[in-house]
Amino acid sequence: MANPKRRHSHARGAKRRTHYKLELPGLSRCTHCGAQTLPHRACPVCGYYKKRKYEVAITADMASQD
Ligand SMILES: [Zn+2]
Repeated sequence: MANPKRRHSHARGAKRRTHYKLELPGLSRCTHCGAQTLPHRACPVCGYYKKRKYEVAITADMASQD
């Protein structure tokens, strides 16, 4: 088995890990109420997505399937 020849110092490992960080998600604005929302999701504030309210949209789509 291959093994590292020398151990890293704590500082060296810590320096490498300074690049591990969370990225902010992309945010867009709700077209209905203007709140910040995740793209391709219904608005958490008013429930609108593509100018339709979430509950209305799913019931309308369920009705059109029958
Ligand atoms: Zn909204």
